[in-house]
Amino acid sequence: MKSHTRVLVIGGGVVGCSVLYHLAKAGWTDITLIERAELTAGSTWHAAGGFHTLNGDPNVAKLQQYTVELYREIEALSGQSCGLHLTGGVMLAGTKERMDWLKMAHAKGRYLGMHTEIISAAEAKKLMPLIDEKQFAGAMYDPLEGHLDPYGTTHAYAKSAKLKGADIVLRNRVVDMSQREDGTWDVATEQGNIHAEHVVNCGGLWARECGRMVGLELPVLAMEHMYFLTEDMPEVAEINASTGKEVITALDFEGEIYMRQERGGMLLGTYEQACKPWSERETPWDFGQNLLEPDLDRIAPSLEVGFRHFPAFENAGIRRVINGPFTFAPDGNPLVGPIRGLRNYWVACGVMAGFSQGGGVGLALSNWMVHGDPGFDVWGMDVARYGDWTTLTHTNAKVRENYARRFRIRFPNEELPAARPFRTTPVYDRLIDHNAVFGDMCGLEHALWFAPSKAEAKDDFSFSRSNDFPHIAAESAAVREGVGLLEISNFAKYEISGKGADAWLDKLLPNRLPARGRMVLTPMLNENGMLIGDFTLAREADDRFWVFGSGLAEQYHMRWFQAHLPDSGVTLRAHGLDLVGLQIAGPKSRELITRLVHEDLSKEAFPFMAFGRFNVGIIPAIVGRVTYTGDLGYELWVKPEHQRALFDFLMKEGADLGLKLFGGRALNSLRLEKSFGSWSREYRPIYTPWEAGLERFVSTQKPDFIGRDAMLKARDAGPVRKLATFVVDALDADVIGDEPIWRDGKVVGWVTSGGYAHHSKASVALGYVEAAAFDAGAPYEIEIIGERRGAKMAAEPLFDPKGLRMRG
Ligand SMILES: Cc1cc2nc3c(=O)[nH]c(=O)nc-3n(C[C@H](O)[C@H](O)[C@H](O)COP(=O)(O)OP(=O)(O)OC[C@H]3O[C@@H](n4cnc5c(N)ncnc54)[C@H](O)[C@@H]3O)c2cc1C
Repeated sequence: MKSHTRVLVIGGGVVGCSVLYHLAKAGWTDITLIERAELTAGSTWHAAGGFHTLNGDPNVAKLQQYTVELYREIEALSGQSCGLHLTGGVMLAGTKERMDWLKMAHAKGRYLGMHTEIISAAEAKKLMPLIDEKQFAGAMYDPLEGHLDPYGTTHAYAKSAKLKGADIVLRNRVVDMSQREDGTWDVATEQGNIHAEHVVNCGGLWARECGRMVGLELPVLAMEHMYFLTEDMPEVAEINASTGKEVITALDFEGEIYMRQERGGMLLGTYEQACKPWSERETPWDFGQNLLEPDLDRIAPSLEVGFRHFPAFENAGIRRVINGPFTFAPDGNPLVGPIRGLRNYWVACGVMAGFSQGGGVGLALSNWMVHGDPGFDVWGMDVARYGDWTTLTHTNAKVRENYARRFRIRFPNEELPAARPFRTTPVYDRLIDHNAVFGDMCGLEHALWFAPSKAEAKDDFSFSRSNDFPHIAAESAAVREGVGLLEISNFAKYEISGKGADAWLDKLLPNRLPARGRMVLTPMLNENGMLIGDFTLAREADDRFWVFGSGLAEQYHMRWFQAHLPDSGVTLRAHGLDLVGLQIAGPKSRELITRLVHEDLSKEAFPFMAFGRFNVGIIPAIVGRVTYTGDLGYELWVKPEHQRALFDFLMKEGADLGLKLFGGRALNSLRLEKSFGSWSREYRPIYTPWEAGLERFVSTQKPDFIGRDAMLKARDAGPVRKLATFVVDALDADVIGDEPIWRDGKVVGWVTSGGYAHHSKASVALGYVEAAAFDAGAPYEIEIIGERRGAKMAAEPLFDPKGLRMRG
């Protein structure tokens, strides 16, 4: 083994080998993969080898599509067969809701260039004769489905990487590692030490243990998973003979079953409800290529459904049962990327579908390492979507929930119940007293809407408008007509101070910095001029700033901030729940706050985008005159010990003004009619500020900031697509996000978010449209649950286009 390597990849499963291959392909050839035992010795060797492109997140689906298309490339390069069977497959819907879900998945796939088809149950039967079509409402056919040989595929990646210069060391466990001052790593292995510039944790079943070597507790957990192989089945032989082809793969959502042909019989696997974690706290290092004890009783309920849906199985003998462990992150998507605060340490783990996702994961990670950017929208699998707030037991509960729901529908208004409440703010009980229905954001409870009674305080899950609709309407009306109160503790708040703060922020952000006591809105760009953040930036003093942004992206942004922080002169602090917030918004909000403060808060003395620190009642608060509702309003930030008292003061003083609590869903309704974009929806790293309509928040006059050159190039080249607001001719269902936008019979864009704007009485969609097809007067259509609805592009925000209300 050599003593130095540019990159050390830990783990020779399908993911580690894919990362190795993609790094080598990108031209980094001084790279080494170290494997504890043999290649595939973790969860890879006993996988069923199925692959598909379907994923709830279209960006992850795109990477799955890439993975499937990659196999021919590595086969040709390595001469090693992947044992590819591209059979195509059907996803079978047993209910109308599932059929709706498939129609939406099909619609999403359309703008990604996928070629799925919605078919009837009878058509599905023709393609997959083993089904009893009476059990199904219909299906989706995907030509890019099939199965492969896990061993051959892993070796094809490995051989291709080796041909490009990569090293692979087998039977050598990485036992420890420590970081040098310069950020490189000394890695201790059973065969000696190796110095690496970068380390990539592809430890699979042992990813947690590899993380713990550097003090990291990764939110992954292994689950037991079973599939069985049948004896040869005459029905299979008959299909093979009559079609000349093998039986296509099938996925039965109601039975929670997947299946494919294996030799003359079938392979059937299931995501059972009574699921079982494996090695919950620690994975034993001596776990070899072992299998776990099968437990057919656990999967019996699924099998019962399976036998009904696929009658031929009833007479089939079981040849072998496989029970093996593999890892999941709490939301079932991979954990990929650099770790905040750990220079040159990368992860690619929690990959639960290595043969659908491994290629995309390898490509994204290698791009990130080599070019500084994953090159795709990888938010759905970025490790930064989790943070220090997770615990081993929280992960355990969420992974079990996710596993058991693997084939269940998640409705757009459905909040998942496991491990809740987990993080709460001091006003949580107050909000419960007012019948709040809560959502979970990074484990934090936040109010979505308020019901008139305890009994009504729950969501009826639906793709259409639901029981919250009239209550959100009332909350929106309170804000637009009087005054509303919203908890905003789930925003991220960062404090930046020190003599270097001004210069650092000036370089980091493309907008001009505000004057003392003022705020500005500003995006943040990466080196490629793409959007990686949108913030409110306030200057409290010459050397003290506050940045407010998406709470969802706190880890993501902190990773970027820390990576760009100078060695001295700037102190950066993410306040998390050390600072909590309440917001009052609406035309009567000034009157309310004026009752509680001594300062002059008139329009002249404390105008729109003013920022200050004063007492509200008896409580010290940081106050900004801005709200995301697009109305007159104030954000009030206080220490947690003051939040309940502040809440009580505001409720009491606001009573005669008609003060009403509102939640996140009303906020969404209000921001939509103002055409305000939101992070992770309209603003993501695949858009430029010109495309996202944020050009007025970047200062092209500023000589030097990150992403300036690329951003100016993008401006000169013209936008590829542009963000637009649409009013949709919807019936009783509004857009959710990711629906295709049609013009003249062609898909010309996609929806990023939407919903019903109650005050404007309009179904609104925000979305990106190809620049060439962007025409305010043109007739558009947006697909909602498989039906194209007419949509009109709005030339300006539906509510208060001149912004008089918020400036008032
Ligand atoms: C029963 C079953 C059926 C499945 N079916 C499918 C399927 O049909 N389709 C699909 O896509 N996926 C399937 N999977 C999931 C699939 O197996 C995983 O997604 C995939 O194996 C993950 O690969 P990995 O490389 O991340 O992890 P692993 O395969 O676990 O690889 C990690 C490697 O790292 C090595 N390692 C760990 N720590 C160290 C260390 N300190 N030093 C050196 N080496 C180390 C290990 O020895 C191991 O080889 C199935 C899984 C199971 C259990």
